[in-house]
Amino acid sequence: MSSIGSPPGTAPADDAEHGSSAARGHLFNAATVERYRDVLARGVERIARGVRRADRPFTGVTPAALIPLVDAIDLDRPLGDTDAALDELHDVWLRDAVWFHHPRYLAHLNCPVVIPALLGEAVLSAVNSSLDTWDQSVGATLMERRLIEWTAGRVGLGATADGVFTSGGTQSNLQAMLLAREEAYRRAGGADDRSAALARLRIITSAAGHFSVQKAAKLLGLASDAVLTVPTDAGRRMRTDELARTIDRCRRDGQVVMAVVATAGTTDFGTIDPLPELADICTATGIWMHVDAAYGCGLLVSPTRRHLLDGIERAASVTVDYHKSFFQPVSASALLVRDGRVLRHATWHADYLNPARAAERGIPNQVDKSIQTTRRFDACKVWLTLRIMGPDAIGALFDQVVDLAAQAWRLLDADPRFEVATRSPLSTVVFRHLPPGADPDLIDEANLHARETLAGSGEALVAGTTVDGAHHLKLTLLNPETTVEDIAHVLDLIADHAGRYARDRAAELSCPVG
Ligand SMILES: *Cc1c(COP(=O)(O)O)cnc(C)c1O
Repeated sequence: MSSIGSPPGTAPADDAEHGSSAARGHLFNAATVERYRDVLARGVERIARGVRRADRPFTGVTPAALIPLVDAIDLDRPLGDTDAALDELHDVWLRDAVWFHHPRYLAHLNCPVVIPALLGEAVLSAVNSSLDTWDQSVGATLMERRLIEWTAGRVGLGATADGVFTSGGTQSNLQAMLLAREEAYRRAGGADDRSAALARLRIITSAAGHFSVQKAAKLLGLASDAVLTVPTDAGRRMRTDELARTIDRCRRDGQVVMAVVATAGTTDFGTIDPLPELADICTATGIWMHVDAAYGCGLLVSPTRRHLLDGIERAASVTVDYHKSFFQPVSASALLVRDGRVLRHATWHADYLNPARAAERGIPNQVDKSIQTTRRFDACKVWLTLRIMGPDAIGALFDQVVDLAAQAWRLLDADPRFEVATRSPLSTVVFRHLPPGADPDLIDEANLHARETLAGSGEALVAGTTVDGAHHLKLTLLNPETTVEDIAHVLDLIADHAGRYARDRAAELSCPVG
């Protein structure tokens, strides 16, 4: 009899011994490599079957349907069997998982992933290197450093550049704002009253910037109104005249602009702020320019469109999300800085981990540059992707989705059923259905309804956003396997759902029932 399932601490000694030897069989080591092979192969087989069978991106499952299944599982009573656990996993998750590889997944910035990166993911978690110190990572630290150097080289940040892998664009932006805050504080003379100095700091971004900038300001203890948003032009790009005016106003009001956050690939519109002009303003005013290229970083490897990022090389810091436009599994992101020395603002020497004497002896570590301690070797995925496929192949995949978005835009622009918003230089298309004769409220409702009905059917997933207060639909195209026919089909579905909704509502209004 095994002690599995007994309350902790109540098992007789021999049972505990038996249980512990069984438990040891699950540890990954030289004695268990056959089990490792077998168990992982079973998992791989499930995924292979799931992917092959997925005839739509989603089943349309609701939280109400899944909550009882997940809640019913007793986490103190293990199944003890891999296949049984995989069956259960299927029921609570995999059966209804959203498949980002499916050509009609058109919603958010989640990408289909490349196989070399999946290999990297499997390898890095089995070895379990941790990227905080040399003695837990060895070559992995050097590989991450090479990838940072490579990416910074693509950006054009120059010889003093450095950076670190992070968990995502949110963390990269947070760390960028931490460094900018500390530099602004230092440049202001490191006033004795630190909280008064921090209260004066401002960050300027555009109205289409990412919300993680606001979150970073909050986490960094800045004033609640520390983030100022500058209006965008018709192309949803930050207006430089408005930026200059905002900087002037801050100065007159005794505030200190610690950073301008430009966006290279806005989440909603896929638009790119005018980086050269913003760099001119930041240079002239001595303000830290951060470029949030979480989405647009795919252009760094594009064989045809790298010029769209011109000006990024003048940034003080840059966010890149390999898990958005490099076809990498979550998570893989990096923060890059022009002057590697600023990373010292993230340094803290702990005797047990990274004593100053180790740094003095020139032993490389990454924890001194990171706001994390234990940290995944996510760079392994990007490394294997570059070594197996190469950067041009990744860039070509990104180019394909950018081309596809241009085709989708033309399709929508020519279709009287739809109104299309800003044209994106990346892979986003924002639009809405215009049911004939419908009033503005009804147009909003019809588009919302179409999106929900489409998701409920699972036939396709599209995103939603508001443009100047009006509800719109959004395609974020990241799958080179999506065809223009897929998009045309989805547009027909949207027009059907929205059109039917508008007709039904109009009929209700003209002859109200009870
Ligand atoms: C997605 C995104 C982020 C946040 O990145 P995560 O990896 O989701 O944390 C930040 N900025 C922009 C422009 C983004 O598109």
